[in-house]
Amino acid sequence: MHELSIALSMIEQIEAAAAKHPGAVRSAQVRVGVLSGVDCEALRFAWEIARAGTPLERTALEIESVPLRVRCPVCGKTHSAEIHSILCPHCVTPEQDILEGRELQLASLEIDE
Ligand SMILES: [Zn+2]
Repeated sequence: MHELSIALSMIEQIEAAAAKHPGAVRSAQVRVGVLSGVDCEALRFAWEIARAGTPLERTALEIESVPLRVRCPVCGKTHSAEIHSILCPHCVTPEQDILEGRELQLASLEIDE
């Protein structure tokens, strides 16, 4: 399960980041792009498994889904797009540069003092 390995590596990242602060990590916010290939529901489920028995056992995972945002290389305009239809609404160029939507990153942590 792809999402389980992601959840395990997030736990490592969060533990490393939280090691500098006293207190328990209440929640972790992650940004998941629609093009990242991560299934948010599967990630939530994997998180429950991955955090068991770790110092993050009570840490909630908050997932922010990042929509696809692209820039047109021809007219230079940026717009949001669907995965299956990214062509430019202004000049109908089909190839677009992806600005956002590939993210899979830890955005922030909420730590109890
Ligand atoms: Zn365009």
